[in-house]
Amino acid sequence: MDQVELIAVSKLHPPSAIEEAYGLGLRHFGENYAQELRDKSEALKHLRGLRWHAIGPLQTNKAKYVAKSAHVFHALDRLEVAQELSRRRTGEPLDCFIELNAGGEASKGGVPLEAAEALLEAVRPLPHLRVVGLMALPPLTDHPEDSRAPFRRVAELARRLGLPQLSLGSTHDFEVAIEEGATHVRVGTALFGERPSA
Ligand SMILES: *Cc1c(COP(=O)(O)O)cnc(C)c1O
Repeated sequence: MDQVELIAVSKLHPPSAIEEAYGLGLRHFGENYAQELRDKSEALKHLRGLRWHAIGPLQTNKAKYVAKSAHVFHALDRLEVAQELSRRRTGEPLDCFIELNAGGEASKGGVPLEAAEALLEAVRPLPHLRVVGLMALPPLTDHPEDSRAPFRRVAELARRLGLPQLSLGSTHDFEVAIEEGATHVRVGTALFGERPSA
């Protein structure tokens, strides 16, 4: 099996927690909030080889922070945000995952599976973005197995679209995600413990 990249989700934990995890060898860190990402990347820029993954929903007016500080963006679900990220990005293109609403919940972010291809085609011409895969965060239930069917649907769609990467799975269901082909898992609580409340 190919290697799975572990993204340590450090949102709401202090920079000192990231430094500690970095000291243990972790290099990929996930943040949800654009300004928190900007502040932490500034505070920790002495840590060489650290890669920032922006994993939370993004408003257009905060895209500039992600364009500047992130190496990878996991929650692309609107063309408008993609355009703003591309406009603001300098240097290397920003690797992006299209986020799918794989559980079909009306209240959740992400595009319906049927809409992914159209978004992919719309984003493709943007010069400073590169769509590398699909991401999903299925509804949290008592049973990690409940994530298997949504993960499988996302993996099948990624294959059909020719996208090589899959960002699937958190503390609750990362083992199932890996079995279903995740290339990236986003794990917070299992690594850092419970988050301080926002
Ligand atoms: C917070 C978050 C995670 C990590 O969740 P844990 O349950 O702490 O592992 C993963 N993905 C996204 C999109 C998140 O917002």
